Amino acid sequence: SMASPALLMRVVASAYAVAEKAATIVRSVMSAGDLGIVEKAGPNDLQTKADRLVQMSICASLARKFPKVTIIGEEELSTDNVTEELIEDGHCEEILKKPCPAQYTGIKEEELVIWVDPLDGTKEYTEGLLDHVTVLIGIAYGGKAIAGVINQPYYNYEAGADAVLGRTIWGVLGIGAFGFQLTEAPAGKHIIVTTRSHSSTLVNECISALNPDTVIRVGGAGNKIIQLIEGKASAYVFASPGCKKWDTCAPEAILHAVGGKITDIRGNSFQYNKEVKHMNSAGVLAALRNYDYYASRIPNTVKQSLVP
Ligand code: AMP
Ligand code: MG
Ligand code: MG
Repeated sequence: SMASPALLMRVVASAYAVAEKAATIVRSVMSAGDLGIVEKAGPNDLQTKADRLVQMSICASLARKFPKVTIIGEEELSTDNVTEELIEDGHCEEILKKPCPAQYTGIKEEELVIWVDPLDGTKEYTEGLLDHVTVLIGIAYGGKAIAGVINQPYYNYEAGADAVLGRTIWGVLGIGAFGFQLTEAPAGKHIIVTTRSHSSTLVNECISALNPDTVIRVGGAGNKIIQLIEGKASAYVFASPGCKKWDTCAPEAILHAVGGKITDIRGNSFQYNKEVKHMNSAGVLAALRNYDYYASRIPNTVKQSLVP
């Protein structure tokens, strides 16, 4: 008989199903109409009922299947006594059929760290910019982001009633990334994607120094990585603290799986071991192609203003 699939592939296959369940929760909270908005650090750091329910759903579902994996979610909520309605037990069969890259076949539960952003782009969710929203499940091993799932619950929401609403993108280093069409950004153009709701003088100074042809301001770290892999933007530039490890882990795995690169604004790679500080204090710089071009043009003054 066939050996059972490697742990990593079982975790990714489950994370896929868990992220789809999360998307149904994100949509049902919105259609029910009561978002239950709570301010965390301030008016630009919000939590809704969807953030809370999805955090419990993802963390409790994955913890039940993989009890020794470390799971770190954005929202500080207990996952004891989570109602059964929030538990997803399924998995994506197609992912289980892919062979696990040799370097990951021996991974044990204790060695994995899962970084969960139950709802990325909360500010935009509360403002009805629904396609900015993503659910992020990133999987790290040895401090590196090696696999990830990005669900976009409102993909296609403006495409009419016939369009299929929502999609799930997943990827593993050494296998690739799936659920979208990899597209190059227009050659010879510098299209920068950045924050919409967390701008600052430094954020804008840094973008100006890159002499962009276009600046796209949208919410969500997950959404901005989607802009890169679908050729809508050539670089994601965010010269500010504020973005956390759960914002970058899944996007990093997917971007790296298709040959892109993400670092902080100074060019340092992110670490995802369980002891790491959550804040990406030195910002974000990412590109599918020509990362070095953008990295070489970040002003030293900007780099010196952001301490890792
Ligand atoms: P944005 O590009 O503004 O949507 O930010 C990407 C991610 O980082 C989102 O999860 C934001 O909530 C988070 N983030 C960025 N800047 C801040 C900030 N100043 N305060 C709180 N969260 C932030
Ligand atoms: Mg987020
Ligand atoms: Mg969030």
